[in-house]
Amino acid sequence: MVKLFSVNVNNFQLESITQFMQIKIIYALSVIIFIYSISILAQSTPENKNLNNKKYFISNNQKQFDILHYDLKLDLLPENKTLNGLATITACFNPGVYNNKTFELKPELELNLYDNLEVNSVKMDKQKAEYSRNKNRIFIQTDKYLADTFKVEIEYKGTPKRGGFDGFVFGEVKGNSLIYNISEPNFASTWFPCDDDPSDKALLDIEITNDSQYVSVSNGYLENVEVTGEKKTYHYKTVYPISTYLVSVYSAEYRTFFDVYEGLDRNDSMKIEYYVMPEHFEQAKVDFADHIDMMETLSKIFGEYPFIKEKYGVAEFLWNYGAMENQTITGIGYAFVGGNDFFKDTYVHELAHHWWGNSVGPKTWNDIWLNEGFATYSEALYAEAKHGKDALKSKMQSKFSASFRGTLYAPKDLFGETIYDKGAWVLHMLRDEIGDSSFFKSLHKYYELYKYSNASVEDFKAVCENVSGINLDKFFDQWVYTGSDNIFCSYDFSCSEEENQKECVVNIFQEPQDYEEFHFPLEIEFQFDDGTSAEKKVLVNDTNEKFEFKFDKDVETIVLDPDSKLLATFEKSYSH
Ligand SMILES: [Zn+2]
Repeated sequence: MVKLFSVNVNNFQLESITQFMQIKIIYALSVIIFIYSISILAQSTPENKNLNNKKYFISNNQKQFDILHYDLKLDLLPENKTLNGLATITACFNPGVYNNKTFELKPELELNLYDNLEVNSVKMDKQKAEYSRNKNRIFIQTDKYLADTFKVEIEYKGTPKRGGFDGFVFGEVKGNSLIYNISEPNFASTWFPCDDDPSDKALLDIEITNDSQYVSVSNGYLENVEVTGEKKTYHYKTVYPISTYLVSVYSAEYRTFFDVYEGLDRNDSMKIEYYVMPEHFEQAKVDFADHIDMMETLSKIFGEYPFIKEKYGVAEFLWNYGAMENQTITGIGYAFVGGNDFFKDTYVHELAHHWWGNSVGPKTWNDIWLNEGFATYSEALYAEAKHGKDALKSKMQSKFSASFRGTLYAPKDLFGETIYDKGAWVLHMLRDEIGDSSFFKSLHKYYELYKYSNASVEDFKAVCENVSGINLDKFFDQWVYTGSDNIFCSYDFSCSEEENQKECVVNIFQEPQDYEEFHFPLEIEFQFDDGTSAEKKVLVNDTNEKFEFKFDKDVETIVLDPDSKLLATFEKSYSH
């Protein structure tokens, strides 16, 4: 997900640079307010971590089932802003949990479903089943022992409750209906019954019926389109599993166009499809033009695009704040399609989520860094692949802040700046810590091990340690689990002359803000009076460190971390 703006930009278009700059200014102001507010509120404490867990709570009873397949039939009625739904869910016991006897087995299937949707009937293996409900759950009673695989059918109707960033929306733009959803993190259950847990991935069949002038699109590949009288049904199907928060519906009078991606080995080809409102057809061709290049570039860096037997797509929706990486069909806000090619990073970010977040999903929402930090760093990797090291450096500098607050693991705000930008920086520093070769090997291995599945931060750490042979306990503690700020150091240096040699001493003093003691590699650039320079690398493993160097010429000045590889601030000090 990318939140481009925290102001309402509905009902106007970014048609000129001036408008764009105005919005950038508003955005900058809102970021300042945002940083100020998180600096007060977002101290990551064990209490916050518990709250976070509670907010995204999945009950033990839910964990004893594994959902294998969702078959969703949705009739959309835009004039009433309602839908009629039939969900057929195939599930089985979660063997791991069952074998470990972690939970007391109840003769009850528990699913997430908000109570604003009226349930007409529930069947368990084709037999009518009793059920009860509370605010966002449905409990289905079953007399028979739930063994092996079973099917539950839930017929329901109503207007989905708005929740999270938007939920399921019967929207309108310039008098035309545009139906869409944005469910992250756990609002899929506002519009279909599910185990609304990112780690319970399942296969999906989804049939969307709307009036025949509307084009509907969802995840996976298009199985068929059927016209019945005035209605048209689009049947989409996945061959790869999907998390509930990525299940999506878009339905509008879209115009479409597409590109063809050939695949890295040139054996698989796949469509990249674009769904845009008719008034944006020409602008969208400009804005979406780089998708083949992005697809090829990211596939070369990470490994082949994970959903190559399905598709990739971009569809306009009415989320006012940015874009969302719904699996194989990214949503981009209507206000951002202007034909100015302003939001390339956003398109790279959403595409990169298809490796990081969609294919390799998070085990829990505590692991959100594995989605957002990775997608944000991918923007910098794309820039590096296209334009070299300077582009990487300037992209990372644009994401630098001296005031990140909070941990990457179990953050208070799942979608705060810390997760995105500090998240990208921590990957950048990890790359420096273990070296380019181990870093990219680790990404490949992590992707190969966990694609179409879920991973935790601990899983990622284990892969990096395994590939590099380096213990990363301290790195992950200071940057991911416990450390909630940046490195702040003061330093001094002095040189003296001993037997025709210049002896230079550099003292580094850590000034702890929150985290007591960071360990990090540090490059020091020595600039000599003859205009030349030399770089030395040291390891800082203490709050006070003293390093000595010998040169045969005069040192004029030193620069710490000259290539900006650290999330750190160094200030020259005369007081120590
Ligand atoms: Zn994102």
